[in-house]
Amino acid sequence: MSLKTRFLGIVTLLILIAATASWLAYQHLSSSIVERWGKQVAEIQVRYDSARLLQSLEREIGLARQMAQSSAILDWANNPENDQAKKIALKQLESFRSNFRGKSYFAALRNNNHYYFNNAENEYADNPFRYVLDPNKPDDSWFYQLIEEGRDFHININPDQELGVTMLWIDVLMRDENSNILGMVGTGLNLDNFLENIVDLNQEGITTLFVDYNGAIQLYRDRNYIDFASIVKPEGQKNTIDLLFEASQDKQKILGMLQMLKKRTHEHNPIESGFVTIDGKKHLAGVALLPAIGWFEITLLDLNALIPPSFLWPLIAVFLASLLITLLVFHQIIQSRILKPVMSLEQGVQRLRDGRFDLPYLSKPDNEIGRLVDHFEKMTTALRDTTHDLESKVTQRTEELYKLARIDALTGLKNRRGLDEAINSSAHQSRREDTGLGLIWLDIDHFKVINDTKGHQTGDEVLQNVARWLETSVRPYDHLGRWGGDEFVVVLSPCDEEVLEHICHRIRACIEQESINTGIPVTASVGGYLCQPNDSMETILRNADNALYIAKNEGRNRVFIQIGAREHVLTSRQI
Ligand code: GH3
Ligand code: MG
Repeated sequence: MSLKTRFLGIVTLLILIAATASWLAYQHLSSSIVERWGKQVAEIQVRYDSARLLQSLEREIGLARQMAQSSAILDWANNPENDQAKKIALKQLESFRSNFRGKSYFAALRNNNHYYFNNAENEYADNPFRYVLDPNKPDDSWFYQLIEEGRDFHININPDQELGVTMLWIDVLMRDENSNILGMVGTGLNLDNFLENIVDLNQEGITTLFVDYNGAIQLYRDRNYIDFASIVKPEGQKNTIDLLFEASQDKQKILGMLQMLKKRTHEHNPIESGFVTIDGKKHLAGVALLPAIGWFEITLLDLNALIPPSFLWPLIAVFLASLLITLLVFHQIIQSRILKPVMSLEQGVQRLRDGRFDLPYLSKPDNEIGRLVDHFEKMTTALRDTTHDLESKVTQRTEELYKLARIDALTGLKNRRGLDEAINSSAHQSRREDTGLGLIWLDIDHFKVINDTKGHQTGDEVLQNVARWLETSVRPYDHLGRWGGDEFVVVLSPCDEEVLEHICHRIRACIEQESINTGIPVTASVGGYLCQPNDSMETILRNADNALYIAKNEGRNRVFIQIGAREHVLTSRQI
């Protein structure tokens, strides 16, 4: 895996870890903010909803209470058979009816179990007596139940089978001066209007409902859940608030909240709130007790509807954009500050490994990598200089060794190998240029005697002297060498018969004359051979050697020249 992929992978991983941690922290923070905020909203909503209900009921309850205390109605309730009292009472009831919002009243008398009612349409103006209550009829049991409980005031959602209406009934007990219960009066409010105005407000995400003291649902937008005639239902058969929840802990929680509020009646407007789940959605439930009517008001806030997850989309978009920008910027920085210099450095190292010192352009950022690249560049320059220096030294040494291998250590002339090469190249050159080639082979006469009589050292000095004298005797471009022992060879190129004879003689005479001055007179026999164009190396050497052999045989200190087949000896005296 490349460094770049690895870097970007690690950065992405780190960003994702950081993002996950931030996301979790955000979730925690937002949920605690939402919880706090939601609780406050729930409390405000609960108070608001409660106030709306109470506001709309307060006047009705007040009127109903006045009605229950009306002396005319109480007189009649006391003497239901008294027609005069009845007439006055019914008139009174009618006047109350016109004041009630629902334009209806009812009166139920304990003495004769008669039930009176008139509605908004004034349908029963002539005869408000509707029916006789029967303690044995379940439909009428509400009346007896309330009397038995002795609750002066009660609100009840109840369908009246006889009247064929379902209403929210406000029931107030009538008592005489001795607190004996004489009956009940009150008014009915149209349930549908009530639900529409108080409960079903179409506020998205907000559900309002009212339950009675026992948790039985009284006002709820879904009528199927309303626990009609709660008062007469035995425990266990009521539609209680817990029906709205699926999870048992939510049921427990909401019922627990009702219980808590029952204990907190000494506080002013106590409110309980907590999270519950309805239809798989998280809701915040706020509950308030309405002591005036003995109900609880419950507000359910759907947090998802109030704060939809789409609210988070901009946040997620900002996060993704910043992730992308971070990656791009990081990639750019890594690319220019690290990867590019490292890659060019790698190329440079590769090139150096291949033995090339011409480095490509190396980028040097102002950081550790830049300094490393700079060191590498300087190191390469130093290495190149050292290598060049070594190479030139090696070349120089090689040349020296080459020369040394071809030089005779004692005389400084060419040795046999040097002579071989000189003869070869001169032969080629003379053949190419048709300039003629001559070879002189000379040998010091009776050299052994010098060695034997004057010592080997002196013999060496004689050889060195002969070498010097030979150098003065030949042309600068002729080649000189010691073949071995006391034998010397001269290669003459270009050369002709005259030049060959001339130089042979000059050599012989020079050695003879110069040696006298040294106090050790020596002579040399000289054999010269003027080469033929097609002579092989072997032929050349053999003929020259042969010429020398003849010169020796002729008495030494002589020159013998062979030109092709022609040959003649030139003695020292002849010259
Ligand atoms: P000739 O006239 O027949 O040539 O007689 P010569 O005594 O010179 O005989 P030859 O050329 O055969 O002898 C060469 C002698 O040179 C033999 C050897 O002892 C001697 N010699 C060979 N190399 C060296 C050397 O490097 N230094 C010295 N001092 N003597 C050498
Ligand atoms: Mg000799």
